[in-house]
Amino acid sequence: MDRIDPKLLASAQAAYSDTYLFIDGAWCAGSGGRTLPVLNPATGEQIATVARAEIADLDRALAAADKGFKAWRKVSPFERYKVMRRAADLMRERAEGIARLMTMEQGKPLAEAKLELLAGADMIDWFAEEGRRSYGRVVPSRAEGVQQLVVKEPVGPVAAFTPWNFPVNQVVRKLSAAVATGCSIIIKAPEETPASPAQLVQAFIDAGVPAGVVNLVYGVPAEISEYLIASPVIRKITFTGSTPVGKHLASLAGTYMKRSTMELGGHAPAIVFEDADIERAAKLLAGAKFRNAGQVCVSPTRFLVHEKNYDRFLEVFVQTAKALKVGDGMDPSTQMGPLANARRVAAMERTVEDAVSKGAKVVTGGKRIGERGNFFEPTVLTNVSMDARIMNDEPFGPIAPVLPFKDFDSVAAEANRLPWGLAAYAYTSSLKTANAIGAAFESGMVSINHHGLALPEIHFGGVKDSGYGSEGGADAIEAYLNTKLITQVGL
Ligand code: NAD
Repeated sequence: MDRIDPKLLASAQAAYSDTYLFIDGAWCAGSGGRTLPVLNPATGEQIATVARAEIADLDRALAAADKGFKAWRKVSPFERYKVMRRAADLMRERAEGIARLMTMEQGKPLAEAKLELLAGADMIDWFAEEGRRSYGRVVPSRAEGVQQLVVKEPVGPVAAFTPWNFPVNQVVRKLSAAVATGCSIIIKAPEETPASPAQLVQAFIDAGVPAGVVNLVYGVPAEISEYLIASPVIRKITFTGSTPVGKHLASLAGTYMKRSTMELGGHAPAIVFEDADIERAAKLLAGAKFRNAGQVCVSPTRFLVHEKNYDRFLEVFVQTAKALKVGDGMDPSTQMGPLANARRVAAMERTVEDAVSKGAKVVTGGKRIGERGNFFEPTVLTNVSMDARIMNDEPFGPIAPVLPFKDFDSVAAEANRLPWGLAAYAYTSSLKTANAIGAAFESGMVSINHHGLALPEIHFGGVKDSGYGSEGGADAIEAYLNTKLITQVGL
């Protein structure tokens, strides 16, 4: 195993450089010496490499997580809280530098990258606090002298699999919940955006998390997940990504009887009722749609606008889309960066082509921008057929279909038509409509008249094909705890 000089790692915060595995308290190359390329999505050029874990590295990570768990579970929640609060502060101090790495590897504008890091620091703080409140219960007994204790214990070593759209925030929820509850964790972070999650792990190490508690690997995702989930060391898995991959991992979790949290795809309906503030709705929804170039699981996806307001909504929405400055995220004036990888550009081209072949009109956008990097125009489609791919598959990119509707019942039925149920949005000035739509949506999260999702203290998760479990709020901690009954009588 080649250990990596810590000075080299410190310099990584200043300039983009190679990313390594972190196993048992040390940064190291993969045992086979193999690497994967990391590309800048704004240029298409290779900027560095990431180490590729082999089975021998996974075995070392499993042994480390086993050892780390046995030690960390004995550390008091108050001590764990102090370590985590230091990690959060380090993330805040380092946010400028890490944001640059994130923009170089993922493409999002620097300001969005920095916000993600600051939000990540808040997430660490919240889980640190909440870990101190993992209370059990004393249940009154039926017989004198019997004491019935229901206690919470850490579930054990966790395997976490995270995607490239929010390279730090997809990790930080899982890492923070694990560390706060006394679990250890092996993170399989995204190979396409490896440097910023590595800096998150570095902040936890610098804050004092002992060797073995946090381990980080990269490699071939299917190879790593199949090996880790099957291992008796791992007691819980958590995945964020697409629904097909989530279903596969959930089935493996079933085979090996592992607890699991699945945060999967979505196809959020955004409904604008007749009595909504149309201008406000159009501007806020366009902002939410094109954030991170639409590569967001809770992105508003199909826009359903009452027929009386349809033209005005479309006008403002299209104006807002056209005014967006698309460019390299490193340029401070950029509002929408490139797509994170070339697969997404190809998917956007296929999506537009399919919609147009079924009668859709491209009101703005519709094409890639230039030949260098993964840029795609903010795109608005009308006259979209219900059998077009965009109305049925998660686009995960900057394409917005806008359709008119007539009445509440038809739009509520449309909102629930698809197998997903992650986020849903509505704009209305009527409390009655807000209550009715809040109850009608088959969705894990409903946001009405604003975009208020993803804060640390509130539930974050889906229903139906969008997965199960929560990555926010008190429920997110529960997923990392086992419940144990101890019933005793003093003799
Ligand atoms: P993909 O479906 O192959 O991968 C999605 C993520 O899952 C990636 O991070 C990948 O590394 C990981 N992955 C894939 N196979 C895995 C396996 N067997 N074990 C463990 N991890 C595995 O393809 P993609 O091109 O990266 O993304 C395509 C789609 O994924 C998008 O269109 C979107 O629908 C979805 N996605 C969702 C989120 C989200 O936040 N929910 C994030 C990224 C991608």
